[in-house]
Amino acid sequence: MLSISHLTKKYGRSLACNDISFQIPDGEVAILLGPNGAGKSTLMKSVIGVLRYNGEISVSGLNNKTPEARKIVGYIPEMPALYPNLTVSEHMEFIARAYKLENYKDRVSELLDMFELTDKKKKFGDELSKGMQQKLNICLGLLPDPDLILMDEPMIGLDPHAIKELKREIEAMRNRGKTLLISTHIIDSVDMIWDRTIILQNGNMRADVTKKELDGCGLTLEEYFFRVTEQENPSAGAETEDKK
Ligand code: ADP
Repeated sequence: MLSISHLTKKYGRSLACNDISFQIPDGEVAILLGPNGAGKSTLMKSVIGVLRYNGEISVSGLNNKTPEARKIVGYIPEMPALYPNLTVSEHMEFIARAYKLENYKDRVSELLDMFELTDKKKKFGDELSKGMQQKLNICLGLLPDPDLILMDEPMIGLDPHAIKELKREIEAMRNRGKTLLISTHIIDSVDMIWDRTIILQNGNMRADVTKKELDGCGLTLEEYFFRVTEQENPSAGAETEDKK
């Protein structure tokens, strides 16, 4: 379980996350949805412990900055950070050693096959196209099979086959009881695969809604998103709907 309590992060005087609290139980896929600049990446970087912030974050009851917590948290960053002088295979080997994985070779082959990188195994990081870099970025994040995985805009730059495989992996992780937090500003890219959606806007948390709750009121995620984020706009459809 991921638990975020009163997370506040400022960059200078600018408030990127304002008193955000929510929990994601084990075995749930949560979507972090919000326009550009909403605070999604800041929240994720706070969870993986690379930013200073106010508030408390725990993973399976462990403070997120402890070594024990770091071992069970995975992160797929929005911008792949590859080594130009390591090949695709060497990147995978590097992660396997960093996480002290055992019996990982079959999984490496499986991931490279899934994301169509098998014939690129010997290519160096800087020889890969943007899309291939993103695929390798995803393979590196999935290899350690962490209990909590954070994916920052993972679908960006992927071709349809890779999107299909990633969605399948997300479902498989959920079925194994893992906790997933996936950020996006594109609602369509995550429809069908979520249990809970957290909506951020201008650093504020505007909603924490489960799929069951939305299905119960007959709204699509898109309709709900606009209802929540355009509330302050008197001409918005959401406001009109609320008054019906
Ligand atoms: P999102 O991921 O939702 O697009 P971010 O978390 O990247 O949003 O950004 C939230 C806000 O914080 C934005 O106003 C952004 O300009 C600001 N911000 C993000 N990173 C930095 C930084 N390193 N220094 C200063 N401001 C930042």
